[in-house]
Amino acid sequence: MAPPDNFSNALERWAYRNCVSSIVCVELRPEPNLLLDWQNHLFPIPDGPEADDQLAQRVADCLVPVHCTGFVIEPLLQDPLHIHVLTCAHALGPVFNAEQPIDVDDINILYQPHIICDHMEQAYLNELQHNNQIAREYVIGTVLAIDCASDLLLIQSTRVHFMLRCGMPHPPLPIASQFPKPLSKVVMVSWPHPTRNRTAVTGEISHPGRQFDELSPVNPLGFRTMLSEVQIRSEQGSSGGPLLNGQVQVTGLLHGGNGSFSFFISLHNLRQTLAEWGKAQERPTF
Ligand SMILES: [Zn+2]
Repeated sequence: MAPPDNFSNALERWAYRNCVSSIVCVELRPEPNLLLDWQNHLFPIPDGPEADDQLAQRVADCLVPVHCTGFVIEPLLQDPLHIHVLTCAHALGPVFNAEQPIDVDDINILYQPHIICDHMEQAYLNELQHNNQIAREYVIGTVLAIDCASDLLLIQSTRVHFMLRCGMPHPPLPIASQFPKPLSKVVMVSWPHPTRNRTAVTGEISHPGRQFDELSPVNPLGFRTMLSEVQIRSEQGSSGGPLLNGQVQVTGLLHGGNGSFSFFISLHNLRQTLAEWGKAQERPTF
């Protein structure tokens, strides 16, 4: 018998293959002057010898688009016209705090979300390989819902916009009904930087739910979410990436990490927030 030539990670590789079409890179393009005014109002820079440097840094930061990972989910209500992408709210930067959560209208004034899918990225890389100098193309989106305390942001884009750029399917990732038991294997595929799609890692569940305040002594943005602790690697732009079980169901959404563990918005918070958004959408508008 020939010796085995592969580690037994068939399930992880299957999960990876079945989720990449649903993972997107989210680019939040700021309206620099409005964003600067907003941040100066919400988080005033204190007077002092470092005030000028801090302001200069803030001015520079407000010019730069920010990136995070998102993934396609089932529409809250039947919506054949749009694609819905879930990601993290903290990618917006310091635009809300515990006392003043930001609403959808204000976010859409401060930022224009743009989305690129894996197929579009592969097509772009293919063109580059043939020495064709083209720019990455993104699909424009709008913010549909935000829950600052739960660190969740929902972006929608019209299917027509997507179809103009990509005709491939983007299957919504289902949300799991149960969180995996401690030490269960899990997978995360994220897009931490526009040039790094398909960043794949595996790890194990450490703890299903920690209180935010137990993990962090400071909480200027006012998060009140439970966080699931997972032995998995992550970095800044991976925020918003889905934590997947062996059935390729979402069991959490990456909030952050401490270098040893990563912390995911708990499945309970995820399901609760999506249910609330669904109810809000059902309300008739006059
Ligand atoms: Zn696509």
